[in-house]
Amino acid sequence: MVRPSRPRPADDRGLSARPAHLDPTPTRRSLLRGGLALGATAGAVLGSELWSGAGAADAVTVDYPTATWAPASSANYTAASRPTTYPVDLVVIHVTQETFADTISLFQDPAHAAAAHYVVRSADGAVDQCVREHDIAWHAGNWDYNTRSIGIEHEGWVDQPAYFTNALYRASAALTAAVCTKYGIPKDRNHIIGHYQVPGTDHTDPGPNWDWVRYLRLVNGV
Ligand SMILES: [Zn+2]
Repeated sequence: MVRPSRPRPADDRGLSARPAHLDPTPTRRSLLRGGLALGATAGAVLGSELWSGAGAADAVTVDYPTATWAPASSANYTAASRPTTYPVDLVVIHVTQETFADTISLFQDPAHAAAAHYVVRSADGAVDQCVREHDIAWHAGNWDYNTRSIGIEHEGWVDQPAYFTNALYRASAALTAAVCTKYGIPKDRNHIIGHYQVPGTDHTDPGPNWDWVRYLRLVNGV
């Protein structure tokens, strides 16, 4: 999980578009975001996924071919040129403690101060990419680990194992396997770690209900 400990007001949880003038750093991303919002009005895009399925932009923006581009605010990560500037040798597994839609919304909030590269949906294993892999997402709460890792969030709560569906495990394992293959990361528990294993963290995710044995088998295709 990457949310701050403070509760958020209910009226701050929606996916209503932020006025462009409030974005302190209008970038290609924010321009793209605006374009996607316009495209969404003509497309069959569900309200809970404002930035999803908007067409050709996804194909050129995501690092994982079946992911949907759902860009985090650029205030929630550090632009970088990994793996040139930093080696990538870890995958960090998280659980959101939020719904999928609220997680995407929080990552779009420039005040959230956190985001992960990917979010996997419980019901069907859909994958949204929120930060490019070459950038340093703020998900581990530890700068060194952030520089070295890809962060994957899973929709659910650590004490509600029903969220850890077959679809979620399979989709996430396929994503992790692809990331490991791309960067030459060993597909083992020394390199695929839980947030709780990051030095200095007080987070417990993914928690005792996460089936690591099953997950590593799936990552390794056995
Ligand atoms: Zn976490």
